[in-house]
Amino acid sequence: MTHAPARPSVTAPDELTSLEDYRRDVLVRISALEPIELGLLEAHGCVLAEDVVADADVPAFVNSAMDGYAVASAGLDPDQPLPLAGEVAAGRPFEEMLPPGAAVRIMTGAPLPEGADAVVPVEQADESDGEVRLHVTPRAGDHVRPAGGDVQAGTTALTAGRRLQAADIGMLAAVGRSRVLAHPRPRVAVIATGDELVEPGTALGPGQIHDANSFTLTAMAREAGAAATRSQIVGDDRRQLSEAFEGALTNADLLLTSGGVSAGRYDYVKEVLAQVGDVAFHKVGMQPGMPQAFGFVGGEGSPRIPCFGLPGNPVSAFVSFEVLVRPALRRMQGRADLNRPRVTAVLEERVTSPPHKVSFLRVRLRRDGAHWLARLTGPQGSGLLHSAVAADGLAEVPVDRTELEAGEPVVVHLLVAPQ
Ligand code: AMP
Ligand code: MG
Repeated sequence: MTHAPARPSVTAPDELTSLEDYRRDVLVRISALEPIELGLLEAHGCVLAEDVVADADVPAFVNSAMDGYAVASAGLDPDQPLPLAGEVAAGRPFEEMLPPGAAVRIMTGAPLPEGADAVVPVEQADESDGEVRLHVTPRAGDHVRPAGGDVQAGTTALTAGRRLQAADIGMLAAVGRSRVLAHPRPRVAVIATGDELVEPGTALGPGQIHDANSFTLTAMAREAGAAATRSQIVGDDRRQLSEAFEGALTNADLLLTSGGVSAGRYDYVKEVLAQVGDVAFHKVGMQPGMPQAFGFVGGEGSPRIPCFGLPGNPVSAFVSFEVLVRPALRRMQGRADLNRPRVTAVLEERVTSPPHKVSFLRVRLRRDGAHWLARLTGPQGSGLLHSAVAADGLAEVPVDRTELEAGEPVVVHLLVAPQ
């Protein structure tokens, strides 16, 4: 399918801020949230802000790697049965020494009795009438886990800067930590604005639409690692807007709004954001997502937090989040990897892009031998959310190109892991 050529732009090129400059200027003003002490499961997915040094060996004691029999390997005669001197289970140590020439029944993870230096697995021995016959001749250290075999006291178990994955959380617990210093998840307040918006689940009156953006944006912020909450819809009313924005400041690290930043008569978001903070408006050379607001809100009495005012068209909001907000949220989390993974794909069809703008086209990817092939998900209008639903990635048409031919390479930012 070939796409309709882009219509001439109504925006003069000198009104546009280049996306590259805008994105850079926004991101330099964003910094990582101060690290705080978090419980282990709260810290899952967060960036560690301290080196975690083990203050004791893990495991703390020599123990058995198998269910079996603990023995002293020296001078054992494999043809002679060994008297069974007792049992030791995990968490229930054997209080005495292993008597010479005897065996102790032992479970995985149980401390090795003093005097023993090897374990014979239960599968390689027979026990009857208080005696144990070994089928193998054990050597010192067989099936024994040394103290500090996992982590030695004084060594660094996890290094600052690491994003805590499930195994890291387990490691923190294993070294005995219940809390850890990490960059917290940014709390994001998401507010949709527009007189036409109603809650999903509510019947539409004339001219009304369901608010989709606050749901998309809250979900995207969560996917980007934030703790995002969606607020009530706010109408195109200066007083309501300023109350909603000020209310959101008290417990958020970032404010995200949708709608009301274009050239419409009732686009009050610009004006109100500028009143509650220091927010500037730009026509950014990107498609979709040209009208953008960014700055800081709050201050006296409430924290000063970054704020993005995104345009209301659902795909504009979606793409703006990807290009601007997601990297900002990652930086706030102390992450250095701000961008999506990207691949170079070969276009399966000709695509167009307005002059002086970077276009982000929603594409599907498929593999062709060593190459990725990209084709549009369908019509690319900024109101067509289904173009984003079907997308594996965003193909970036460079600012200096107004078309790319079928067969040309294009950079695709991956929204999902390619199959
Ligand atoms: P605006 O940016 O307020 O001029 O809105 C641009 C377009 O996006 C209009 O068609 C709005 O109805 C639509 N829109 C604005 N906010 C939302 C929203 N939260 N969910 C879905 N569509 C929206
Ligand atoms: Mg509006």
